[in-house]
Amino acid sequence: MITMRLDEVAAAAGGRLVGADPAAVVSGPVEYDSRKPTAGGLFVAFPGAKVDGHDFAAAAVADGAVAVLGTRPVEGVPMVLVDDPLAALAGLARASLSRLPDLCVIGLTGSSGKTTTKDLVAQLAAKLGPTVAPAGSLNNELGFPHTVLKADEQTRYLVLEMGARGAGHISYLAGIATPRVGVVLNVGTSHIGEFGSVDNIAAAKGELAEAVPVDGVAILNADDERVRKMAVRTRGRVVLVGESPDADVRADEVTMDSNGHASYTLRVARGSVPVRLRVPGRHQVGNSLAAAAVARELGMPLRELGEALGELTLRSARRMDVFERTDGSTVIDDSYNANPASMAAALRALATIGAGRRTVAVLGYMAELGEYERSGHEEVGRLAAELGVDRLVVVSDAAGPIHDGATAHPGWEGRSEVVDDQAAAIEALRADLRPGDVVLVKGSRYRTWDVVDSLRENGS
Ligand code: ATP
Ligand code: MG
Repeated sequence: MITMRLDEVAAAAGGRLVGADPAAVVSGPVEYDSRKPTAGGLFVAFPGAKVDGHDFAAAAVADGAVAVLGTRPVEGVPMVLVDDPLAALAGLARASLSRLPDLCVIGLTGSSGKTTTKDLVAQLAAKLGPTVAPAGSLNNELGFPHTVLKADEQTRYLVLEMGARGAGHISYLAGIATPRVGVVLNVGTSHIGEFGSVDNIAAAKGELAEAVPVDGVAILNADDERVRKMAVRTRGRVVLVGESPDADVRADEVTMDSNGHASYTLRVARGSVPVRLRVPGRHQVGNSLAAAAVARELGMPLRELGEALGELTLRSARRMDVFERTDGSTVIDDSYNANPASMAAALRALATIGAGRRTVAVLGYMAELGEYERSGHEEVGRLAAELGVDRLVVVSDAAGPIHDGATAHPGWEGRSEVVDDQAAAIEALRADLRPGDVVLVKGSRYRTWDVVDSLRENGS
């Protein structure tokens, strides 16, 4: 974090010092995980139900933490005492940013592709200056301020993923770090169980457009009607991205190669440049366009941008990770998480990468779909059948409607089966996998991780 005196930390966090030197200087990391180093920094103790962070307070100070932010005093430990550590963290993050007026905050939201696109943006921004972005998907009221506090006086770009599970969540995050560049990728059905309807999701994601200030820019996906409509909700300048003819940052002449990589012509107001992506999946066209639009806002010249887009890689595990096994089969590990839109994107990638080969999809349950649960799963099954996937292994009865959706398609009997659990899916694959096959593995969170891990262990 930036350099602050402990009394300034206490003021920003809305707390008071106990047993601590107000003039002590904090400039190291702020962490709430006791396994992470906090030398010169601050350890945040959450009074958790299972593990109480205060139990690690003394050890953190022994390892060099300047003080511990927590809710009760700990003997012999310099403390910043607060009522609510989350609110304290938010206050501290806000105060830190207020001292970094030249830092450019970039915020991304959307139903699918936040982490992926955050990683793409971070790679481009890093070419222009020191960049801070979270590892993985830290996008909630805890991970978000935690990431903000990683920015310091040297940082020029701060790339933040903004997640929402309900109304007001993105406004809250934007109140901690207001994005000068705000990106809305898409509105889909992820977390719809909590939101109630797609319109509610659109309203919540649109809070990012609303948060963008007058001198900021809202980068909106022109190909998603609900996102496009957010243009009226921002005070900032609007940049439309997509394949729509009126997009300001546009992909034209998109083609896919047999590795699932897209090529396109990137068109902006005053020029165009050829792009050849290395990240797999048709959906990366949209993600890379959003990243390109951000890079243009940060001042990256077009030619350099065209080349940089071709160098981008995926940084977060279990997302479109394509690997080869020694038996000659190919695995697409997209198992990090799933919703109907990302299932569709992954199935399309399977169809492209698997063109002319035998394709197998191992698909698990998609959580948090609420009343769309049945139809969401059926829709995925239907698409698998339409795309001509050769074999479908549906993991668990909960995901059964995927099987129902697929087998409703003429000629699909015998190509799809529902297995009890991941172990059974692994068995089914073991009995059936052939050299040259392309296997997609995907489901919500851990629900297909064992399957893909078994393919890794046995193959490469
Ligand atoms: P979370 O809400 O879990 O943080 P996220 O929005 O950060 O998700 P990612 O982790 O980037 O999303 O990707 C989740 C899944 O969605 C992956 O399977 C990924 O391949 C797929 N995906 C990425 N971009 C898109 C997109 N533009 N459209 C549809 N699916 C996408
Ligand atoms: Mg994420």
